[in-house]
Amino acid sequence: MSQSVHTNTINEQLFAQAKRHIAGGVNSPVRAFAGVGGVPVFVARAKGAYIYDTQDKPYIDYVGSWGPMILGHAHDAVIDAVKAAAEDGLSFGAPTPSETTMADLIAQIIPSIELIRMVSSGTEATMSAIRLARGYTGRDKIVKFEGCYHGHSDSLLVKAGSGMLDIGEPTSKGVPADFAKHTLTLPYNDIEALQACFERFGDSLACVILEPIAGNMNMIIPSKQFHETLRELCTKHGVVLIFDEVMTGFRVGLGGAQAYFGITPDLTTFGKIIGAGLPVGAFGGKREIMEHIAPTGGVYQAGTLSGNPLAMRAGKAMFDELLVDGFYDELSKKTQYLLDGLTKAAAKQGVALQTCSVGGMFGLFFAESLPQNFNEVAANCDAKKFAKFFHAMLDEGVYLAPSAFEAAFMSSAHSYEDLDRTIAAATRAFAKL
Ligand code: PMP
Repeated sequence: MSQSVHTNTINEQLFAQAKRHIAGGVNSPVRAFAGVGGVPVFVARAKGAYIYDTQDKPYIDYVGSWGPMILGHAHDAVIDAVKAAAEDGLSFGAPTPSETTMADLIAQIIPSIELIRMVSSGTEATMSAIRLARGYTGRDKIVKFEGCYHGHSDSLLVKAGSGMLDIGEPTSKGVPADFAKHTLTLPYNDIEALQACFERFGDSLACVILEPIAGNMNMIIPSKQFHETLRELCTKHGVVLIFDEVMTGFRVGLGGAQAYFGITPDLTTFGKIIGAGLPVGAFGGKREIMEHIAPTGGVYQAGTLSGNPLAMRAGKAMFDELLVDGFYDELSKKTQYLLDGLTKAAAKQGVALQTCSVGGMFGLFFAESLPQNFNEVAANCDAKKFAKFFHAMLDEGVYLAPSAFEAAFMSSAHSYEDLDRTIAAATRAFAKL
């Protein structure tokens, strides 16, 4: 029996066991491999650029827990910080100096953050930022963009039909239509749709929330002009502009997507990367808006585990590494090296492959041209080809996101040897397409 057949059998058994008492066998849907077929790899441990399954088969990992493992897995300094923090107690539900250190650090790195609040997930961060925007403006309507994911709170699980200004229909059962009707959904990266929406609804919008570089419909880098138009319209109409940097924050560069585009949002949401992979999220921005949160203001928001000491101290250890001169230059260089190699390998095999990247985040598309919005991703990308490629790479010991609609991530732990191995594996995988 070959090793991959053997590990597949073990994973099938583990998945069957998981399904006995875990809904769908997973604690978050994308892990079930529904988009690519087959059974998920059950992970036993991880170190550096590698995850290992229960049979100790190594995989070069380009998911990195969906972004936060920018230093690679189980980085020594981070693990030491977690151990030391654990010795001091796991949670107090009371303020700690480590929260202040983290807040000061983020405010120093991201100039738009005057005040911040820690939470425990990206979902909480976006949900709270939207409540704050509504409380601050006294308006109910919000705008999101097709293909952008902001976690699973009610207001955000909405995607309009193709009509630009359709009142939203819930795309998850269980979201009351009365909530969904306050969420307008626009095509991403479309200036005309934006202008038309603001003309009609501008003065009744509480906020616009977007992934400033999209990573949940594969990866799309919108135009600078789209961002500038959005910023102008929000300012003109008193609408709170929320950058959801759960994925891009400290990832596409130290200053996130806002530094990349030179745009100052009113509020920003961050996610798991702050805690180096421990459960954490945050939202922050203009003092004038943030002061509306309890206890200083009337918008309620709270959390027993918010600012958890393990997450804060792990995050501090990670930031010490990110702040080293040249960290992001090297990360970008590695990403570019990999994408150049993959592009050449695909061309050699006659496979149409498009790529894009910023810093340590990249997208791979089996398409003739680079998609610019969700419809183009859905219409032009060959998801079947991706599924085949995904499984061929998995057999080769390369772990990509199990979906054609996710971005991929580079870490500083990936060596050029890992990248060469990935390119060689992809060359063989492309040949099978
Ligand atoms: N916003 C964005 C941009 C995300 O990518 C995600 C999840 N990856 C979330 C919000 C939700 O974060 P979480 O899964 O931590 O709730």
